[in-house]
Amino acid sequence: MPELPEVETIARGLAKRVSGDVIDSVWLGSKPEPLKSPASEIVRALESARITNVRRVGKHIVFDLENGRRASTPLKRAVNKSARPTTASAQWIVHLGMTGRMLVCTPDDPLEKHTHAIAKLASGRELRFVDPRRFGRLSVAHEFQAPGSEPLQVDLDRFVKLFRGRKTPIKSALLNQKLLSGVGNIYADESLFRAGIRPRRRAASLSRDSLRKLNLSVQEVLKEAIALGGSSVSDYVDADGEEGFFQLQHRVYGREGEPCLVCKAPIKRVLIAGRSSHYCPKCQR
Ligand SMILES: [Zn+2]
Repeated sequence: MPELPEVETIARGLAKRVSGDVIDSVWLGSKPEPLKSPASEIVRALESARITNVRRVGKHIVFDLENGRRASTPLKRAVNKSARPTTASAQWIVHLGMTGRMLVCTPDDPLEKHTHAIAKLASGRELRFVDPRRFGRLSVAHEFQAPGSEPLQVDLDRFVKLFRGRKTPIKSALLNQKLLSGVGNIYADESLFRAGIRPRRRAASLSRDSLRKLNLSVQEVLKEAIALGGSSVSDYVDADGEEGFFQLQHRVYGREGEPCLVCKAPIKRVLIAGRSSHYCPKCQR
């Protein structure tokens, strides 16, 4: 599953390629799962819109759209909708799920199996959403906000508040998207290792100083991963089809039984809320 650094890498790659381009037309496949907004709403928001920017919010890719809708286009069923009038701006929100990819193609690139959406661009290229396992989601919004705080921007006071009084293991709290938006399993394990905190520790039991270390290590790990172009795990590739290489830097994730890089104790793996958690029993308390 692509995590925050991968999504950031993909969003930056897309921003470079398609910012400024205009969506001429939209094709949506017949599978219902990828569409979180009604198909008609997606088509209405995207068609004739200019992509002004592509950015990451939490683990979502957000295409900022500026409406260039031709006045003559009929708005079907507009009367029945408790309708938002066609506003000047909207966002196309893409969540990649487990296996989703957003490709920038030319029309003669062979159409991949499991292509669920194609946006034809005025430049002649196409944005294609491909997702074999169909956990990815496409939607449109007008003022999109992720449910939790942005981990790269949250300050210490806010960070401490997020975990205050939480009896869950800190690992689960880090994965709770309502608290922090976009921290996934790999980066939670790596951050806890760097902060010297065991994944099972109750969030509420952590001192302000421990939380300060954790806040810093979350940001450090995510920034390093972004700099390296995201991790390459299973199906992840960025918009160029290039694989990222962050897995070479993992210190605990996926290293069960291997010696800790600091103290040589074997790395342990435990299940917390159904997710594999890796930690060093000596370095993390
Ligand atoms: Zn260790």
